[in-house]
Amino acid sequence: MENVVILGSTGSIGKSSLEVLERFPDRFKVFGLSTNVNIALFKRQIEKHKPKVVAVTDPSAFERLKKELPGLKVKILSGMEGLKQLVSLPEVNLVINALVGGVGLIPTLTAIDSGKKLALANKEALVMAGELVTRKAKEKNVEILPIDSEHSAIKQCLMSGKKEEVKRLILTASGGPFYRRKNLKKITVKKALSHPTWDMGKKITVDSATLMNKGLEVIEAHWFFDIPAEKIEVLIHPQSIVHSMVEFLDGSVIAQLSLPDMKLPIQYALFYPERKFSLNKPLDLTQIKNLTFLKPDYKKFPGLGLCYRALKMGKTFPCVLNASNEVAVSYFLQKKLNFVDIPEVIKKVLTKHKGVDHPFLEDILEADLWARKESEKIILKLKRRL
Ligand code: MG
Repeated sequence: MENVVILGSTGSIGKSSLEVLERFPDRFKVFGLSTNVNIALFKRQIEKHKPKVVAVTDPSAFERLKKELPGLKVKILSGMEGLKQLVSLPEVNLVINALVGGVGLIPTLTAIDSGKKLALANKEALVMAGELVTRKAKEKNVEILPIDSEHSAIKQCLMSGKKEEVKRLILTASGGPFYRRKNLKKITVKKALSHPTWDMGKKITVDSATLMNKGLEVIEAHWFFDIPAEKIEVLIHPQSIVHSMVEFLDGSVIAQLSLPDMKLPIQYALFYPERKFSLNKPLDLTQIKNLTFLKPDYKKFPGLGLCYRALKMGKTFPCVLNASNEVAVSYFLQKKLNFVDIPEVIKKVLTKHKGVDHPFLEDILEADLWARKESEKIILKLKRRL
């Protein structure tokens, strides 16, 4: 029996993870859960899954939950300290990090430091601090398993050959709602939030529409598989059936296919390297009929190119890119920034940044904070364009 902690259990990946765990009650016990503010759903999850310990990051949401759950036998922790305590409890075997954004970095490092098996859906942790996270994982002999459909696909495809035999990784992208659209100037929040194939949280849905999500995944793939940026390509694949591919030196291309459902990569990570029967809807290619692929338009989606640039520049540049994107997306969601200005803000912040080589955690947190402040300044200047 493995004791599992899910960080971010009320988000999209968190909810799917609970569904997967429920299917294997003899193997997994939900030991701990965490949320930021969604107390209504969190309460239902606690009543249903009966975790021993939970954490609420938002202070006022923590107070509310404490008042509402006097009768339940569950220990409630709060804030970032609470997340750290939760993942390092000695009873915990496996941590699923489904947090959104830079807030996922410190719990990732804590889980690694405590030697826990880690299934990582929080790509921002690797984007911000890929060098530090992978180095620590090596030191602690912790294998980090990807819960991202593309990286799960690549991990599976890579089993067909040796690392030295890899010619390139091909990450597929749905293209989001706008890859066919000519002009992105009048994109509303509502339009950006209507993703054609995947049902996800708001931040990642906007990232998919700007193709920033794919760019972040290029950086994530670099750290997960130790493959240089030059050997990672992106292809738009609107049906989201081929989740990614690996081309080997002899020209063979291995792909992983399934219907788009995050429960599959979650289950693969939880049982890796085993495979188990799944209740997911099987793929019927005769129903899909067409699988199409096209090159991304780097001019229309400059965010993707910025991610490659930040990865090649290294140092604290990817961290700054990520922080700036988070701030820009949050302003866009509040209708305080135009869609096309999201990459514009990131580009300006990257240009201003002076990178730190081989950053420690303090350098990363400092760069992150600097980039958040700098992004806000730039956004306030852009405001007149709204
Ligand atoms: Mg993905």
